[in-house]
Amino acid sequence: MIFVLLSLTVVISLLTYSYHVLANYQHPIPIGGNILLLTAHPDDECMFFGPTLRGLGRQHKNRIHVLCLSTGNADGLGQIRKRELVKSSQVLGIQPSHVRVSEHSELQDGMKSVWPTDIIAQLVNNYVSKQSIDTIITFDGYGVSGHPNHIAAYEGAKRYIETQKGSTKLYTLDSIPLVRKYIGIGDLITSSFQQIMALIKKEEKGSVLIVSSPGAYFATHKAMREHTSQLVWFRWLYVTFSRYMYVNELSLAN
Ligand SMILES: [Zn+2]
Repeated sequence: MIFVLLSLTVVISLLTYSYHVLANYQHPIPIGGNILLLTAHPDDECMFFGPTLRGLGRQHKNRIHVLCLSTGNADGLGQIRKRELVKSSQVLGIQPSHVRVSEHSELQDGMKSVWPTDIIAQLVNNYVSKQSIDTIITFDGYGVSGHPNHIAAYEGAKRYIETQKGSTKLYTLDSIPLVRKYIGIGDLITSSFQQIMALIKKEEKGSVLIVSSPGAYFATHKAMREHTSQLVWFRWLYVTFSRYMYVNELSLAN
């Protein structure tokens, strides 16, 4: 019985995946122009935002930038991790001149490190003005894993958006319950069901679902392998089973 249920789940997951990959290639993602991905640590870009970066990267008019708020120096590897981020971004199609890592003394990697919102908002302001950014993408208010540095990135971006004089849009990456986090493409069943329900209820929350093709998934995997200093055994499990390696749902926050 369990075998039948498991087989059924795998078949439905694969069918849903195929459908979404096809649909994704027919419908362009409604985010374009100069795009800034705001992250907290080197490796956030591929552990959480791989489908977004690959999806937006295949739309040729987009120019993607990464602003990483810390070097990820919790274990004293900050300078190595900075270089790894540049290499990983190149695999994801982002040129080195579009990757910036903050080394601000108030923004040090750590679960107990409290990052001042105003400093982040100012860094975002400087980058957005200099590069004429149209859209910022970052974590949501839970930060996927609940990491306080991820949440601080969201708070800083939100503060910038609330005080800006321009019309920059902010999209945030939806955090999902733990039970859905490690079922890989299987989570597409849940995401699709939610989208259908929202359609029936005619909810318009400015939500964008981005699904990686198999090629995009392997590129994200390759990018993750550039983070050599971070490749401990459980990260291999992560890149295989995390749904964030296959699916991103972004919500418009303003
Ligand atoms: Zn992180």
